[in-house]
Amino acid sequence: MSAESHEFQAEVKKLLELMIHSLYSNKDVFLRELISNASDALDRLRFEGLTASHLLPDEELQIRLLADPEARTLSVEDNGVGMSRDELVENLGTIARSGTLEYLRNLEDDRDAAPELIGQFGVGFYASFMVAEQVDVVSRRAGEEHATRWLSTGAGSYSLEEAERESAGTTITLKLKPADAEDGVSDYTDEWMLRQVVRKFSDFVAYPIRLSVMKKEEGDDIAKLVASDEPLNSMKAIWTRPASDVSEEEYKEFYTHISHDHHEPLLHTYTKLEGTFEAQALLYVPSEAPFDLYHREMAHRGIQLYVKRVFIMDECRELMPEYLRFVKGVVDAEDVSLNVSREMLQQDRQIQVIRKHLVKKVLEALKTLKDEDEEKYLKFWAQFGPVLKEGLLLWQEKRDRILDLVYCTTTQQDGKPTPLSSYVDRMPQDQEAIYYMTGTSIDVLASSPHLEAFKQKGIEVVLLTDPVDEVWLQQMAPEYRGKKWQSVGKGEIELGSEEEKKQAEEDRKQDEETYSGLITCLRTALQDRVKEVRLSSRLTTSPSCLVLEEGDITPQVAAMLRQAGQEVPEHKPILEVNSGHEILKKLREIFESNGTDPRLGDYAALLYGQAVLAEGGQLDDPAGFTKKLSDLMTRAL
Ligand code: ADP
Repeated sequence: MSAESHEFQAEVKKLLELMIHSLYSNKDVFLRELISNASDALDRLRFEGLTASHLLPDEELQIRLLADPEARTLSVEDNGVGMSRDELVENLGTIARSGTLEYLRNLEDDRDAAPELIGQFGVGFYASFMVAEQVDVVSRRAGEEHATRWLSTGAGSYSLEEAERESAGTTITLKLKPADAEDGVSDYTDEWMLRQVVRKFSDFVAYPIRLSVMKKEEGDDIAKLVASDEPLNSMKAIWTRPASDVSEEEYKEFYTHISHDHHEPLLHTYTKLEGTFEAQALLYVPSEAPFDLYHREMAHRGIQLYVKRVFIMDECRELMPEYLRFVKGVVDAEDVSLNVSREMLQQDRQIQVIRKHLVKKVLEALKTLKDEDEEKYLKFWAQFGPVLKEGLLLWQEKRDRILDLVYCTTTQQDGKPTPLSSYVDRMPQDQEAIYYMTGTSIDVLASSPHLEAFKQKGIEVVLLTDPVDEVWLQQMAPEYRGKKWQSVGKGEIELGSEEEKKQAEEDRKQDEETYSGLITCLRTALQDRVKEVRLSSRLTTSPSCLVLEEGDITPQVAAMLRQAGQEVPEHKPILEVNSGHEILKKLREIFESNGTDPRLGDYAALLYGQAVLAEGGQLDDPAGFTKKLSDLMTRAL
């Protein structure tokens, strides 16, 4: 059958265009990507071989590099799981990850962005096009008879045709661009060059990487393939080596190998579990959130499971809760069954014990970072804080450990993030609750009327703006260090000393008598929109604000739940008005001279409307509001 031409997916075209013209100086990484893919393919074959041993080859599982300086070709070959024709189309013609896709769709045709891109995703196989003018892949899926050749210059399309391959595996042959030091393209057929690159990036790969070079030995007329048996890599699992032997550079390279993230990790931590269940783990916290942190498929990409140094699986979701899904690393267990399936893992008691230990370790490592290097910790917090807070929804017993890690902005501290624990330390002795306010932006929150009395009395209030904050505070109103949480926008607020509270209560009783007629009138005018109108103890300068009853869900949570398809009952808010405000005083005069004055209804609507606007909400009848406001201005002028 002759070759069939296929178009690349649009986003792949874009990516290849960037690769081909990339100015990324560190082009060596293409080799790491190919070796890493080969190593994954060997892992997968070994895993499939656990239950289907006929798939395993007789020869050793290995990776071979074949360099031909004269022909300017470099091949990377593995006897791993291989790819069928369909898999070649799927894997080397499209990009599956939705986060990456989205990013590529939005990417301007900006060539300078390529390094950033390589950094973010580790563009994998496609990195070959930084150094090759043509890439030729011949692959045969383990268990299948036929092999397929995939061929492309990276310009728009690739071709597929039937091919020969003696056994399962993949051979990727690059026709290299001419070496050009200025362009950053080194001679990747040079033996010493290849040795160096492999040592640098892939030393810990668990399979031998061997090199063969086409060369003329002394006295030869034609070049022959000269193979070295000695692997280029040491193959030593990095987590089994004493920490004092492993350099920071090696930890970083290993991180890149498992995570495909080219940024420096923020921290790594090694831990060993001893006792009934034995395991060791090397875990990393990245410094940058991946684009797809909030995509479903991202969940649990991070942890690889090994059993006694043998790779078992990627993405071992059972080992890390979702709220720590940003953690990357390897876990090497001593006696999990090698035949274990994903379903069995969930029930495996050993896995549960290991997971518990890992969670504890990660939270401890973050706590240490927070205590020892606040600047670095704040970087972490900016990237992953909202994800970590998802843990507050789940873990009753770990809640305080997570809350110990929470940073927040408050109405004081010059708007700088402060640890929640320090807020609690600063609380005056008689302050019983952690006062907080949730919303979509710090600016809107900071100028909210709800905070007026707090500001006047110098009481610090925590401002929270991540969508998840609404949810965890709503779900369980947890205590933290013996203090309950109190929303400044919910229920009745009483501030000050016992004496002040008493006085305020008396004043209010008095006011309630004075204003009872007007309040009833406002309530009638607004009965479709609010469930109650009452005098406020939280306002000092604004005339009105909206509050919820304790336990009512906020409009933001209601919107989120509705989006998730849940039915949410309507909660009408309460309108609080400020009896100390001039408007209220004037309104009372109008009311007392004529309780049915039509202006009262308009003013009621305006008081309600401005309370909605002040909390960053949307008016349900903006045209009506504007008209009433214009009428009022005309009358006043
Ligand atoms: P990534 O490795 O990050 O998934 P790549 O673009 O490097 O992205 O590779 C895409 C997919 O192609 C891999 O996930 C794998 O399924 C397949 N693949 C690449 N190289 C090989 C190989 N040598 N053997 C088998 N499959 C491979």
